[in-house]
Amino acid sequence: MKSSPWYSPLADWALGQHPVTRRHTLQVLGTLQMYAVSIGIQLHSVYLGLLDRHIVEVLTLYCALTFIPVFALVRSGWSQRLRDPVMTFPHALAANAGCVLAFGLLGEHRGNVMILIGLTIVASMFRLKPARVLTLGMLSVGMLAVASLAMSWSDPVRYPATKTWAILVVGGSTLLMLSIVAKWISDIGVRLGRQTRDLAEAVRTVEQMATTDVLTGLLNRRVMTDLAEAELKLIERSGAPLCVALIDLDHFKDINDRFGHHAGDTALKGFAQCTAPQLRQVDKLGRWGGEEFLLLLPQLSQTEAWTALERLRQTVETQIFQDHALMQLTFSAGIAQALPGESLEQLVDRADQAVYEAKRTGRNRCVIANLAHVPDEAEAQA
Ligand code: GH3
Ligand code: MG
Ligand code: MG
Repeated sequence: MKSSPWYSPLADWALGQHPVTRRHTLQVLGTLQMYAVSIGIQLHSVYLGLLDRHIVEVLTLYCALTFIPVFALVRSGWSQRLRDPVMTFPHALAANAGCVLAFGLLGEHRGNVMILIGLTIVASMFRLKPARVLTLGMLSVGMLAVASLAMSWSDPVRYPATKTWAILVVGGSTLLMLSIVAKWISDIGVRLGRQTRDLAEAVRTVEQMATTDVLTGLLNRRVMTDLAEAELKLIERSGAPLCVALIDLDHFKDINDRFGHHAGDTALKGFAQCTAPQLRQVDKLGRWGGEEFLLLLPQLSQTEAWTALERLRQTVETQIFQDHALMQLTFSAGIAQALPGESLEQLVDRADQAVYEAKRTGRNRCVIANLAHVPDEAEAQA
């Protein structure tokens, strides 16, 4: 058994155990890098004597007050009830409000804050819907405008209106342009996501069309052939028994003649529906053609297969199929157990002969095929 790494309990504690919660919590933890970088820059500025230590303390406290509640709501799983469980929009908006606070506190260096606001917008565009990205940009610029007005009004000497206005126009318009570009990229992401989903759906449909019979929903002849070939190869190595049963509905032409082709189709679908629940998981039933079906019965001897088919035959003969009229069906089945070295064609051929025998002796019965002589390789080549 593979042992868990030493940090597993720590990771479980930090991220939670549920895989969805873990993924979301990890995404929130990813934003810590941005907090760390901005605090690092501020500490460096303090070291150079460009910034007052108290300002860094206030801003670090703000970062903690933004990050911790978001982390707690996501980590606890509470945010799962929201449309965006990672809370990107409120988190990014709160982070940019922090940047605006820094804008008000950093004095001469306040212009640098614009870069951090831009970074938040860019980082959020991968998770936010296009319109939300634009809203985030506009609200951030709006907060900057309010802060600039308040600053130049309350302290016109330190923040002269012309300079404050110039910073706001240059920074704000750049941020708005950046938000528009981020919205475009988010648009492309949404389109790509939709195309990927459509493509996956188309692949599923094609796969289904290639493997199932449209009318009955059973496996089609091509898939049944592949499965039977694979089973024959398998028993060559394992030596386990393998049986096939060819099932042919009795007097089906009469059903069509009496009730119409549509009712015949309904009867074929009904047969498929009432048969499927009777089978084991390893059994495979497919439409072999028309009103003929092939049943693969791995790990059953011919007598066991006969018992299974008899049970099925009795179920079908008591079933009432309903279209515009009520119909009853019976079938004749030929059962053949694979012989060593026998090909699929030979095996199905023997089952077919047994069906013929069942028809000849009165229909609505299951017959085990004769053990025909299978030529060995030398004979076959002769
Ligand atoms: P038997 O007991 O000898 O098998 O008689 P049968 O009438 O079943 O045999 P036959 O092979 O003469 O007729 C098979 C009929 O199955 C003829 C064909 O129209 C009908 N059939 C084949 N495929 C379909 C289908 O998809 N839908 C409908 N409604 N009928 C089908
Ligand atoms: Mg037939
Ligand atoms: Mg028939």
